[in-house]
Amino acid sequence: MIERLGNMDIHGSRVVKAIAGFAAVALLAVTGGCGSSTQAQTPGEDTTEQSGPIAVVASINQWGSLAEQIGGDDVSVTSILSSTNVDAHDFEPQTSDVAKLAKAQVVVANGAGYDSWATKNVAKDAQTVSAAQIVGAMEGDNPHLWFSKDARNGMAQELVNAFSKVLPSKKKAFNERYKAWQKKEKTVEQAMDDFSAAHKDVTYAATEAVAYYLMSDMGFTDKTPKGYAASAAAEGEAAPADLQEFQKLLEDKGVDLLVNNTQEASDATNMITGTAGRADVPVFDVSEQMPKDMTSLTEWIGSLVDTITGYFDVCGSDDTSNQSGDDNGTNSSDGKKTGDDAATDGTSDDDSDDTDTTTSCKAGTSSSTDDDSDDDAEGSGTTDSSSDSSSSSENTSSDDAKQPDPGK
Ligand SMILES: [Zn+2]
Repeated sequence: MIERLGNMDIHGSRVVKAIAGFAAVALLAVTGGCGSSTQAQTPGEDTTEQSGPIAVVASINQWGSLAEQIGGDDVSVTSILSSTNVDAHDFEPQTSDVAKLAKAQVVVANGAGYDSWATKNVAKDAQTVSAAQIVGAMEGDNPHLWFSKDARNGMAQELVNAFSKVLPSKKKAFNERYKAWQKKEKTVEQAMDDFSAAHKDVTYAATEAVAYYLMSDMGFTDKTPKGYAASAAAEGEAAPADLQEFQKLLEDKGVDLLVNNTQEASDATNMITGTAGRADVPVFDVSEQMPKDMTSLTEWIGSLVDTITGYFDVCGSDDTSNQSGDDNGTNSSDGKKTGDDAATDGTSDDDSDDTDTTTSCKAGTSSSTDDDSDDDAEGSGTTDSSSDSSSSSENTSSDDAKQPDPGK
């Protein structure tokens, strides 16, 4: 356990600590003016206010989506990085992207080294809103801040502030949208709290620490082998011994869930998801950027929470269709499609008011209760929906290679 705690340092416990004090930091950022490059115009002062929407450019679509939720018709948001098929960490903007950023009235960035290109060419009188600055995350900390409820709340508030500086007459509208957003966000957070209350001692390992904050908010303990996690965070190749340790962890069902970053796929991660599939450890696929079929950051986070909950609640009271001989393990091959299962709980939309369905469920440990070799076979072949799990299905052909060559 102590060793596991060491793990958290790599993933950014410093950030978590920093987030704990984000309110104070945010206050400093506002009063100290370091969050924005302009002095605020005093609202109500006789400055000629623009008539059209505020030109907002977000580095990534997760934060761009939040800017739209807060800004509504009073903003026009462009997100530079929206694709879930590119390596976000290595992204380089095109000249046209840089030009858009330079013209923006409000630039919305993630920070912590994730998108340092976004804030290099900002207009002098533009407002800059940075998630990392709000929560006190530094370069080297886990940068996947949109998955943190504290970062989302801090960003939403800062967006209200920034938009209100540019369009003071719309301040009330920004605040009203903020309140509406907050209601949806709280519903998602309630679902997370309900999950963690109903599922104690849940654990996971990750191919990359993309969902670290989400898993932390849901009460999961990160058990990713330390050596592997370090090399993944540094975007390096995992050492063979680290890969083997990771595979052993999965084969021993040492975690309840494997988090797989589909946007950082490699031979090593394919091997890991393959091992998880054979061991009946559910694979939770998640991307860095918000998928196109999601209409908002809140909806996306909510659906991810539903998906995760779905892996655990097949043993729950109401989900009888899944109970007979079809235990948790079979979900592994479904990948994110188990969100459909979760959807039957009625939690697919923002108001997941029925989260009491989680009551009787004990953490995914039930997947190990069975004796059944037939179930193993099912899991290993990922037969039921190989088309769903794009990243993991590739390895399933090498089923019998229990110890895939970790070298290369
Ligand atoms: Zn990442």
